[in-house]
Amino acid sequence: NAAMHSGEVEIEHLNFGYDPAHPVLQDIHLRIPAGSFFGVVGHTGSGKSTLMSLLLRFYAAQSGQIRIDGHRLSDFSDAYFRSHVGLVPQEPFLLAANARDNIAMGRPLSDADITAAAKAAHVHDFILQLENGYDTSLGEGGARLSTGQKQLIAIARALAGKPRILFLDEATSHIDSETEQIVQLALNELRGKVTIIAIAHRLSTIREADSIIVLNHGKLAEQGTHQEL
Ligand code: ATP
Ligand code: MG
Repeated sequence: NAAMHSGEVEIEHLNFGYDPAHPVLQDIHLRIPAGSFFGVVGHTGSGKSTLMSLLLRFYAAQSGQIRIDGHRLSDFSDAYFRSHVGLVPQEPFLLAANARDNIAMGRPLSDADITAAAKAAHVHDFILQLENGYDTSLGEGGARLSTGQKQLIAIARALAGKPRILFLDEATSHIDSETEQIVQLALNELRGKVTIIAIAHRLSTIREADSIIVLNHGKLAEQGTHQEL
């Protein structure tokens, strides 16, 4: 079984359509250096989430290849792959459980691991302000949290697994500007420690990204820094 080391991602001439007759991604070819902060932008329907789904092995490409640290995606066992990539979905799913269990998600993590992940996600202070701290129930589906706060919990949950690659699909719904800045801060601090692939609906989220790609109708239209684009 293949192992991940630094989290370098190579996408080679990738083509994919949910229906092969209707391509959604066309000839995507790019390299994401290990430990870099990589942003993905583009109009709705341009293929951003589809590209992330392929990187996460939810679907297989019709042609082309994705490699992580030189290994084909199919070379990783399911358990290994799951435990070495972290995903922060657009609409994070929260358990009707306390903050600690929402971060641990059934994994045998120590309190130190959980608080370290919460600190890295900048959600530790928020949790401590709840009436019972890490023992406070977050309610059914995280009912007492805003979308932004749910994303921060989801970032802590993803980081607690010590991933090599962190995928983030930014929430489309409104996030208050304070929480948005916290997400930016957390991502900027993770640079160099984990490869970050972030789909952004707000350019501000990826202002500091090392590289940003623009998808247009399933094709890689542009690549550069925020300043260059
Ligand atoms: P958004 O900004 O709205 O999230 P996106 O860039 O993430 O958009 P995708 O969700 O990747 O876009 O969709 C790309 C294209 O693939 C769209 O035409 C969409 O309708 C189609 N599509 C997405 N998911 C599926 C699916 N599960 N089955 C069939 N077609 C799909
Ligand atoms: Mg999407």
